[in-house]
Amino acid sequence: MKQPPYILVVNGTKVRRPVFVLGAPHSGVDLISHALGSAPGFYIGSGNAGVLNTVYAVARRPSIAEERASGTASLLRDAFAESWQLTPTTCPRCPQGPVPAREAAEPCRHAREVTRFGDASPDLLYSTTALNAAFDDATFVQIIRDGRDVVAAMLDDERSLAWFRPSLANLEHELPNPFFGIENEQERADYPELSTAAKCALRWRGAVRLSARLRGALGPERLMTLRYEDLFGREVETAEQLREFTGARVSAVELVRADSPGIGIWRSRLTTDQRNDVRAVARTELARLGYVQKRG
Ligand SMILES: [Zn+2]
Repeated sequence: MKQPPYILVVNGTKVRRPVFVLGAPHSGVDLISHALGSAPGFYIGSGNAGVLNTVYAVARRPSIAEERASGTASLLRDAFAESWQLTPTTCPRCPQGPVPAREAAEPCRHAREVTRFGDASPDLLYSTTALNAAFDDATFVQIIRDGRDVVAAMLDDERSLAWFRPSLANLEHELPNPFFGIENEQERADYPELSTAAKCALRWRGAVRLSARLRGALGPERLMTLRYEDLFGREVETAEQLREFTGARVSAVELVRADSPGIGIWRSRLTTDQRNDVRAVARTELARLGYVQKRG
């Protein structure tokens, strides 16, 4: 039975064509999110506690999200409905500081100017199917970065590494497990012995394999793919692509990074062992994406 289309209203505005930004860790999701969120009338959330709870529940138990698709879709809609409420305490444009209690829960003066919504929380990638079920007109922007640089950046980031703690990496329930990048019994059996670099590389591999499947499933009208390395020096073209795809009046200036984009950081940061570990896990994907030669 086909469900009637669900209409979500936030701050008095109907949510239409929400934009979700997807990518492996340290692949530039924050940069795209910043540029989209700076466009007039756009609000792009990131890291709202309710959204993260739902996103990680789905990321860690994708089979549950599939079995209970309509329940997961409504959980996601509820989480976003809350995260997209702009109040003086949540609005990025309201001045920071104490807010009278009676105003804190009311829409702020910017709320009515927002006509388009989106989200760029970490690890949203694993909720794409559920997001697509929750918002049938959703559009997705995904960004791909060289897996060697991603591993180098993850190794330097406590939050990325925290997922590998035995208490969080519970691998019994799910196989395949795209979040950790484990696809079969053998990989699960070998997992505890892997180096941290190899575990990071597996997460990248799982993410880019998922990204490739999404391209096939969603098609170019719903999903746009950007490559991190292409952003720098091509800010004007990228802004134009984003404008055309999302309708957001993205400014190229907002895509310019103040710090170094870190292209090729793996050369100075990964040891020989770490490079070999990354290559052993992800060589096929690195080659498919053109980051290394097919044989090498
Ligand atoms: Zn405001």
